[in-house]
Amino acid sequence: MDGVIVGGGNPIVVQSMTNTDTADADATAIQVAQLAHAGSELVRITVNNEAAAAAVPEIVRKVRGLGAAVPIVGDFHYNGHKLLIAYPEAARALAKYRINPGNVGSGRYHDDHFEAIVRVAVDNGKPVRIGVNWGSLDQAVLAQLMDANARLAEPKDARDVMIEAMVESAIRSAELAEATGLAHDRIILSAKVSGVRDLVEVYRRLAARGDYALHLGLTEAGMGMKGIVASSAGLSLLLAEGIGDTIRVSITPEPGGDRTEEVAVAQQVLQSLGLRSFMPQVSSCPGCGRTTSSYFQELARDIQAYLRDQMPVWREVHPGVEELRVAVMGCVVNGPGESKHADIGISLPGTFEDPVAPVFIDGALERTLRGDHIAAEFKALLDSYVERRFPVAGSAS
Ligand code: SF4
Repeated sequence: MDGVIVGGGNPIVVQSMTNTDTADADATAIQVAQLAHAGSELVRITVNNEAAAAAVPEIVRKVRGLGAAVPIVGDFHYNGHKLLIAYPEAARALAKYRINPGNVGSGRYHDDHFEAIVRVAVDNGKPVRIGVNWGSLDQAVLAQLMDANARLAEPKDARDVMIEAMVESAIRSAELAEATGLAHDRIILSAKVSGVRDLVEVYRRLAARGDYALHLGLTEAGMGMKGIVASSAGLSLLLAEGIGDTIRVSITPEPGGDRTEEVAVAQQVLQSLGLRSFMPQVSSCPGCGRTTSSYFQELARDIQAYLRDQMPVWREVHPGVEELRVAVMGCVVNGPGESKHADIGISLPGTFEDPVAPVFIDGALERTLRGDHIAAEFKALLDSYVERRFPVAGSAS
């Protein structure tokens, strides 16, 4: 998919979705570029009406003009079969189509509309994500499974049947897509719910039903800490079991908030699990009664921000720097020990300790900082460590 391969044992792909009006090509292109710049490796845009479909080629051109090569995925509901046929340039410009089998029409139209979209995908060489969502579950599949369940001597509970219906809808749609000519490895499945336990259950069952690439995500995860924690919990359980090929964190941003937060959370989930590396990681202790001033918290925040600010350049010129481990500790109780486990670490003086800050590099005491410029001196040590440990790409040293 335009340089990004989902599934087949490739690294787990981080993706995101815009929340602009797709018909506003400028706003959408800018947000796609922002998400890409933040590290999103696929960006999805809704293609909900004719104006949106007409804007797609322009959006792709503008995104490329902004220096982002990120593949752009079209999200279709209800009228995807019409839009993809009426706007062939949009069909060509998109890197992938997402179809929700619960929203492609009902009765005898269901399969016709679904097949129409798949045929456009086949003709244009595009993969398709079959994205089931419990909020728009295919009612025909659900009713069929509910009826069958009611006939059992010991019927399962409604939750169990709902989860089975989601899996069944995804698998039946995938089989229909293959029968229509889409290659097995051009199909990605998702089955999103908003509860963590349901998410884990539905994806375990989906993974057990075949080897389709899987897109993981909690839908309607919520806002702020709730959304971040719920998404992290659900994704981590599945990823730790080896389930999932691409992830999206669907958190609700604050009004006027930063849409790229969902990308940072997705990256942090993967890095915390040791599955991919995106950013140097800072270990810092929680602080306790031994750190009665806020200086230690300020330094931890300062170093974190410094690393984030340096990364756009460091990533280009210091390959491997995303593996860097930094420790910022509040006192000497655990400070030197944690610092020795990091690549570079500093322990600030706790209350009543000598006003000195030992810095360890590669497990050995490098020097002891003191005075009013500890933060600046530590950043200078960080810079020189990065220069030495991750030499400039192409340099002989
Ligand atoms: S390292 Fe020191 S300041 Fe940090 S939590 Fe432990 S005892 Fe407290």
